[in-house]
Amino acid sequence: MASGRQSEHRRGRSAEGVLLVVEDEPTLRELLSASLRFSGFEVASAATGEEALALAVRERPDLVVLDVMLPDMDGFEVLRSLRERATGPVGGGSGDIPVLFLTARNDPEDKVNGLTIGGDDYVTKPFRLEELIARIRAILRRAHGRPREGVLCVADLEIDVDAHLVTRAGQPVELSPTEFRLLRYLAEHKDQALEKTKILNDVWQYDFGGDSGIVESYISYLRRKVDHVEPKLIHTVRGVGYALRSPRS
Ligand code: CA
Repeated sequence: MASGRQSEHRRGRSAEGVLLVVEDEPTLRELLSASLRFSGFEVASAATGEEALALAVRERPDLVVLDVMLPDMDGFEVLRSLRERATGPVGGGSGDIPVLFLTARNDPEDKVNGLTIGGDDYVTKPFRLEELIARIRAILRRAHGRPREGVLCVADLEIDVDAHLVTRAGQPVELSPTEFRLLRYLAEHKDQALEKTKILNDVWQYDFGGDSGIVESYISYLRRKVDHVEPKLIHTVRGVGYALRSPRS
């Protein structure tokens, strides 16, 4: 009775996204599904790993909430299969689906270390629903570059334009006003190769033949501050200038 598929009547993907909830404990599964629907998500649910894998291919969820301890296989195995199937003929791209693990505090097998195999985040049971939802939204923002209003995202780099706040991998980054303007400009033109002279004109607004050496200097400041972790986002485009690129593009 487990796999409630509530998407039969859906008329299109909801703004918040489609989630797959994988949890073998019926009460928690129902509670989670209902709460997430109430929060605006479309939710499919599964009680076993096999069901989860089948639904992931069929439903193409935007994110999987994945319990670690399942009756047929553990969540890490589910994730591994998801990633592997993605490269096969039936994967349908399911391997890219972000995964948020639900782990049980007292379960010795729920090693958070296992997350290194590719989970995007985890919450420990018992958890607050608000926290779960906040984490789901954060992952979706990162995964789809669908920022909330006024926030530019490139991979795990977030630029809050209104608040003048920058974080990389969740860590705040201190930038000077010029560095901020340059980074914002690069993010607004992400994945484009930008000529140094164009950057100079647009960011410094020099309408004379300014020295593009200043662009190089500021790019190196930015690299030190936001690109000290992998993956590198600021790229030199030989003979042209620079580009801020998300790793997948
Ligand atoms: Ca369980």
